[in-house]
Amino acid sequence: MSEIKVLFVTSEIAPLIKTGGLADVSGALPAALRAIDVDVRVLIPGYPQVMAQMGPNEVVASFTGIPGFPSSRLLFSIMKSGVPLLVLDCPELYQREGGPYADPVTGHDWVDNPLRFGLLCRIAAILGSDESPLSWHPDLVHGNDWQTGLTGVYLSVAAGAVPNIITIHNLAFQGNFRPKKVELLHLPPESYHINGIELYGNMSFLKAGLYYAWHITTVSPNYAREIQGDELGFGLQGLLRARSDDITGILNGIDTDEWNPETDKHLPSHFSAARMTGKAQNKQALQTRMSLNVDADVPLLAVVSRLTHQKGLDLLLEIAPQLVELPVQLVILGSGEAFMQESARDLALRYPGKVAVMIGFDEALSHQIEAGADMFVMPSRFEPCGLNQFYSQRYGTPPIVHNTGGLADSVVDCTAETLNDGTASGFVFSGMTTDNLYAAIVRAVGLYQDQRKWRVLRRNCMSKDFSWETSARAYRKVYLNVLGRTE
Ligand code: ADP
Repeated sequence: MSEIKVLFVTSEIAPLIKTGGLADVSGALPAALRAIDVDVRVLIPGYPQVMAQMGPNEVVASFTGIPGFPSSRLLFSIMKSGVPLLVLDCPELYQREGGPYADPVTGHDWVDNPLRFGLLCRIAAILGSDESPLSWHPDLVHGNDWQTGLTGVYLSVAAGAVPNIITIHNLAFQGNFRPKKVELLHLPPESYHINGIELYGNMSFLKAGLYYAWHITTVSPNYAREIQGDELGFGLQGLLRARSDDITGILNGIDTDEWNPETDKHLPSHFSAARMTGKAQNKQALQTRMSLNVDADVPLLAVVSRLTHQKGLDLLLEIAPQLVELPVQLVILGSGEAFMQESARDLALRYPGKVAVMIGFDEALSHQIEAGADMFVMPSRFEPCGLNQFYSQRYGTPPIVHNTGGLADSVVDCTAETLNDGTASGFVFSGMTTDNLYAAIVRAVGLYQDQRKWRVLRRNCMSKDFSWETSARAYRKVYLNVLGRTE
């Protein structure tokens, strides 16, 4: 196999900084690619969380006098996974308390996000061109989501530029700003055009990414199709349809070391498909920790999610009073929109012992929930790939999912036939209504009453292979195609 050098640009990476699935992908895919002869290095902003946790590092480059941007430096470090990290240190833009995108005090996006992520793109383009001060030169730059979207624009006017691709993890987040940012970010003025970075009177980081990338990937084959349609194209369906031949859907894998019920450091008890007693112990520990009634027999339904419209949890909250009558217990871990947080808290107060809610982001608890619950629910209105349905299958917690995006690609609905042929791995419902969600949960609870069949379903789930290897090979193929190389 010929070696390919790839600069992977991302705005979050697990375990250093995470708000969602992008971090999981950035934490795992580069390592999987390195295992198949792709020399990947990751470029990431130097947020305080990254600076504090990256370990030993050295300065490998300094950038001063880039028009429009403050001075910055690149620090080189190596992640525990062995993946080399290039940390973009620019205290003025990144060294502040709070999340990577938003001010924790106001809850609003940082006002200088165009500059913060504009610099990330500008530096990515420098590293992918003759301007690079590094001795390591990538063959290709691989960006992710809107935060990296301008990379291709800067590359388009750079000498000795290498090709670039972009992966869409969520088309709903676009990084759209007033047109005057074009000047501020020193983008070529002619790029502000319908055939360029203009989107309905704004300049759009994501549109730029999709327009200028040599190839576009997204995180499931089904989502790759859906985003070319009017319902889920978020205003970009026209461009995506025009570029249909340049779009590839590659299902995410998961970090099978981090998410392994046999070794998971967050779990009180370990288990495997062959030895399931540990799962019952996790259920008991979870019920105790969350102040739910300790009851081995009642099905425990779980949610770990951002509490946003996208995730469709408003439907679940609406039917919760009916669910607890089934009976079912409900555990929710999440944070997001205020009204959803409140109505979740309300339910916990109304149904003590039956509904438990933790508002916040808690990595350890998310593992304990995956392990201790019996079923996991993801009624997303749209879901580019989704990760929790993989984790829950691996932890023997069949997911109940809406028939959309990557959920449809990774969960096989349980029917007499699919249970028989060993493919069933959860419950899939079509049509985003409370009735349809309720019916799917009733189906799951019904099967749970037949513990023999439930064990078959759980075993199916736990025997599926969600490792990154298959996905990494698919990315490698995309890289080779873009570079016009064969093996
Ligand atoms: P998205 O990226 O749209 O939020 P994904 O399912 O792709 O959704 O990935 C979400 C990731 O974030 C998963 O690893 C999930 O476990 C994690 N997660 C989401 N909310 C929380 C939370 N409140 N606490 C801990 N982990 C969370």
